[in-house]
Amino acid sequence: MADKIKVKNPIVEIDGDEMTRIIWHFIKDKLIYPFVDVDLKYYDLGIKKRDETDDKVTVDAANAIKEYGVGVKCATITPNADRVKEYSLKQQWKSPNGTIRSILDGTVFRKPIIIRNIPPAVSKWKKPIIIGRHAYGDIYRNVEYVVDEPGTAELVFTPKSGGEKKILSLYEFRGRGVIMGMHNTEPSIRSFAQACIQYALSEKVDLWFGAKDTISKQYHGFFRDVFGEEVDKVKERLQAAGIQYRFMLIDDAVAQVIKSEGGMLWACMNYDGDVMSDMVATGFGSLGLMTSVLVSPEGKYEFEAAHGTVVRHYYEHLKGNPTSTNSIASIFAWTGALAKRGALDNTPEVVTFAGTVETAVIETVESGIMTKDLMLIAEPKVGKYALTEEFIDSVMERLKKKTA
Ligand code: NAP
Ligand code: MG
Repeated sequence: MADKIKVKNPIVEIDGDEMTRIIWHFIKDKLIYPFVDVDLKYYDLGIKKRDETDDKVTVDAANAIKEYGVGVKCATITPNADRVKEYSLKQQWKSPNGTIRSILDGTVFRKPIIIRNIPPAVSKWKKPIIIGRHAYGDIYRNVEYVVDEPGTAELVFTPKSGGEKKILSLYEFRGRGVIMGMHNTEPSIRSFAQACIQYALSEKVDLWFGAKDTISKQYHGFFRDVFGEEVDKVKERLQAAGIQYRFMLIDDAVAQVIKSEGGMLWACMNYDGDVMSDMVATGFGSLGLMTSVLVSPEGKYEFEAAHGTVVRHYYEHLKGNPTSTNSIASIFAWTGALAKRGALDNTPEVVTFAGTVETAVIETVESGIMTKDLMLIAEPKVGKYALTEEFIDSVMERLKKKTA
């Protein structure tokens, strides 16, 4: 085999949980280490390590991405009450992705991988629909309260200057009910808009933004206005690149997206992005084909698969049963990180290698070798599916031939 390709600067590697952790190590051992020489700054965000370190390791990992600029992350458990019992945890640690996102103040872009023999459920879709999800605030930073007696709910803003307090009456409760307060900030919305504009320019795709400004005239209206201002600032650049900006009502955006053939960046508020990215991923075929990258305003990148730890498969694996878990999105997290590292370091051979791995993956599926989730939707039909490790081995064989 040819000499290993040298990666100039380090990549931050963030390990995770359950089935994706198993896949992670196959990918590293079979598709990365044999071909590239890379300095990986390793952070173990497996649930046990987070518990041991009182979640400090998550903060350290996020800061390492700030330092080195490029990270690659395996899926991790966000513990709920059941998980606390299952893993005997000290407490319900916060979502690692939430922690990393707030430290990097980033925007998450989710892009499906399109493969010829895996037709989307929505037959009109021909090009990727990329979701740009604002990753700060709204209900993810809310305060909420269950009201269990009659009373008045109010929203109070106290100016730091000591000026007059602003009190908004929410509701007069006669009995049980529920309330919630949420917020966002202008700088965060601005950097969200800027990140989306940058991404649209780099991918040369139209930019859509949807919100519900007819109902939420101020909150959603604020998003619409700030986003629009940022777009206005670069109007000429967008025009020159042939990129159209469209603001629409979120429900209209949903209808337009379904009727379109894809090929746009759909900027979404935090919650919309959470929900719509699962819709788009499923529409394109499988959660196992959805990639995700967190981009910070300072140009730091964290690549991951959009799916979780595939826990049902992990329980099968623990019982000693064979699994057929799709590793494609996790492989593309690695290639995304390598390609970005190569671009930042000005090492085209690293970028080329990342592309070669991606081609090897796509050709493997197109040759009829795929995991069960894809076999169920492949067109033309295939007779059998590959086990988790078999798929990665096939990719490795193809990659060896391509790089020989
Ligand atoms: P999930 O891991 O995404 O899996 C949901 C289901 O989707 C699976 O049971 C499987 O369906 C299918 N699926 C997802 N990825 C697949 C793949 N690569 N190959 C084949 N099938 C795949 O979501 P979850 O079960 O709701 O969450 C499990 C854990 O992941 C939770 O602890 C959650 O906190 C965590 N999570 C982490 C992240 C992250 O770190 N980015 C994101 C989401 C969830 P079948 O069972 O029908 O085969
Ligand atoms: Mg979600």
